[in-house]
Amino acid sequence: MKRILVSACLFGINCNYKGKNNLNYRIFSLMDDFSLIPVCPEQLGGLPTPRPRAEIQGGKGWVPGSRVVNEFGNDMTTAFKRGAEEVLKIAKLFGVEFAILKSTSPSCGTQYVYDGTFNSILVPGVGVTAALLRENGIEVFSEDEIEYIGS
Ligand code: SF4
Repeated sequence: MKRILVSACLFGINCNYKGKNNLNYRIFSLMDDFSLIPVCPEQLGGLPTPRPRAEIQGGKGWVPGSRVVNEFGNDMTTAFKRGAEEVLKIAKLFGVEFAILKSTSPSCGTQYVYDGTFNSILVPGVGVTAALLRENGIEVFSEDEIEYIGS
């Protein structure tokens, strides 16, 4: 059975920055055909829950040299990169081919992320973990693209 990484908050795990989740019941429809592995890169990177909101600076999502800063102006880049590396480690350990990641997150976003101004402005771009997984040949999809998994 193929293995898929899934953002843990989509499973109903209370790991998002508010200490809540982003439960999406469509994820459960995949359980008959795939082995699903929940991960939260921000927790794996050592960040607390709840935690301050964070956004990638620069308005382009995660690109080389980007920084992730929280709403108090603290540079959180190291923790976000550490979390992405831990998720990649899990992906390699389990031979994962795909990931379904929560849209717009500075870690998990696959198409759009917030622009770094904390003004709720989305821009095209990917989160830190989504970028690292893609760089390593793992296909990443948002929860809105579940129908493309495995096709
Ligand atoms: Fe969900 Fe990803 Fe944010 Fe963790 S880092 S709460 S898995 S979107």
